[in-house]
Amino acid sequence: MELYVRVYYILSGIAVFICGACLGSFINAAAMRTVAGKRWWGLERSACDSCGEILSVRDLVPIISYIALRGRCRVCGARIYPRHIAAEVVSGLLCAALFARWGASAAFCMSLIVLCFSLFNSLTDIESGFIYDAWALALGVAGLAVRFAGGWPAVLDGVLGAALGFGVISLIIIVSRGGMGWGDAILMCGIGGAVGWRYCAFSLYAGFVAGGIVVLPLMIAKRLKRKDAIPLGPFLAAGSAIILFAGNGLVFRFRELLGAYPGWPWGG
Ligand SMILES: [Zn+2]
Repeated sequence: MELYVRVYYILSGIAVFICGACLGSFINAAAMRTVAGKRWWGLERSACDSCGEILSVRDLVPIISYIALRGRCRVCGARIYPRHIAAEVVSGLLCAALFARWGASAAFCMSLIVLCFSLFNSLTDIESGFIYDAWALALGVAGLAVRFAGGWPAVLDGVLGAALGFGVISLIIIVSRGGMGWGDAILMCGIGGAVGWRYCAFSLYAGFVAGGIVVLPLMIAKRLKRKDAIPLGPFLAAGSAIILFAGNGLVFRFRELLGAYPGWPWGG
């Protein structure tokens, strides 16, 4: 590879990481405000979670401020919740990795939609045990809107994905009588609407495996009972994130079943 091409990729990767970290910072703040019943917009400035001191610009630089302050508030010295830096790092790294995977394309755009809304819904689910239906549905609506750029087959693919995601989780809810919540079904409806039915099927599988890997050992160790409420949204979101990278490889592996076509915008 020519040197200047390599420099271009490295610089754009760093730029995407920084933008992704800022995005993660915003999404985390929006999720916290949503759970607290506050507005996202307006004149209310970001403040310390403990003492309420209004934060200045130098305290709001994603990742760097947290490290510079050693995770403590400049005024009161209280610990800053690690969820701030965690959301920023996860979002920055995933954005950069998705850019490396898809380049500047419709697939990258769709991946970003899935990532942003999944992160938001995971954060509210972890904090409050609640997925906000409107924000889970917004994921599907935004995804379907982008699908119009791929024509009617792409839109139909999204509608089928939404139906598959909602249908499978609904079935589990009805059969298990409360193992999962309707928020999970609506989240998977939104993810399916964005990623299409093939990616949705793999996302469900990856999400269940991810959940099983974490939940089963806890159940075996008797740390969890069967009826304990575990937020499952983050596992479904993690499953869909994995498939944003591995989806095409899986479609090709199951080409006899799926016809080796991953669907728009994932390529053909
Ligand atoms: Zn403080």
